Amino acid sequence: MRHEAFVLEGTNMSELLQNHNFKFQKKYGQNFLQDVKIPRRIAMECTSFVFPEGDVVPDEKADSLILEIGPGAGILTKELAKRFKKVVAVEIDTSLEGVLKESLEGYDNIEVVFSDIMDIDLVPFLNEKRKREDGTLMPVSVCANLPYYITTPIIMKLLEEYPEFNYITVMVQKEVAVRLCAPAGDSEYGAITAQINLFGKAKRLFTVPSGCFYPRPKIDSAVIRIELYSQPKYDNDVAKETSSVIKNAFAMRRKTLSNALSGMYPKLTKEELGSIIAETLGKGSDVRGEKLTTDEFAKLSQRLKDYK
Ligand code: SAM
Repeated sequence: MRHEAFVLEGTNMSELLQNHNFKFQKKYGQNFLQDVKIPRRIAMECTSFVFPEGDVVPDEKADSLILEIGPGAGILTKELAKRFKKVVAVEIDTSLEGVLKESLEGYDNIEVVFSDIMDIDLVPFLNEKRKREDGTLMPVSVCANLPYYITTPIIMKLLEEYPEFNYITVMVQKEVAVRLCAPAGDSEYGAITAQINLFGKAKRLFTVPSGCFYPRPKIDSAVIRIELYSQPKYDNDVAKETSSVIKNAFAMRRKTLSNALSGMYPKLTKEELGSIIAETLGKGSDVRGEKLTTDEFAKLSQRLKDYK
């Protein structure tokens, strides 16, 4: 791989990758950031901490653990490690071991774990990593340039398994970012948008042109930040039940809600289901799921849970 712009803090990343005989793997969604300004900005905006502008490394690091998914060659990992007390980076591709060892040399607050993030049981894993010397737990957030092939499953895993994250800041494809942040009723509003709102609020931060990556993907990307509710808005059972109503409602997006949900509630006829929907939401019985806010989905799922 030859790419002159891929120079990071005096390290020629192309050379580094070449020296370790690294081969980009499409199946892992490996599009690495080349320009340090982007990961720096992501690192600075990934929590509520206010950092000095530019490449000024703060005197004191922010008291947070950051979970990074997919460090690649470590370009974002370093920017995080300069600003936060601890970074745990989970990487699936063991062929990056030598590259990461070299590029992260000198940082004593980074731990790299080689594993598929989907195989990690987040509760024991993070509870152990968050422990300070005195036994108390550090706040924890996520920051990642996500592999595109698995964006939604990763976001859902993070939200459903570990509600104690403060922020989840991720780079995703631009179209996906629009969907994740769309308001109810918008043409881009989908199951994942409504599901995210069970746990927090998503905000689009900025766009990153495809030319900032190597290899260059076909489409631009965008960074979004989900701020999780400081107190969970719904308890676990309600969130689970609502999530499955949302999935069913959007699986048949063009159908009315009573048609889309009828398979879930075999004890009710479609007419009975339509009446309950109308009465619970104060909307016509022919309403479609895409018009419902997450709060309305939650209200409906609680009203219907005994008819399964
Ligand atoms: N953070 C680097 C950057 O910004 O240049 C690399 C980002 S690249 C888009 C995605 C990274 O996620 C790759 O390093 C890839 O190997 C890794 N990855 C893909 N699937 C993964 C999984 N299931 N678990 C952990 N890491 C994964």
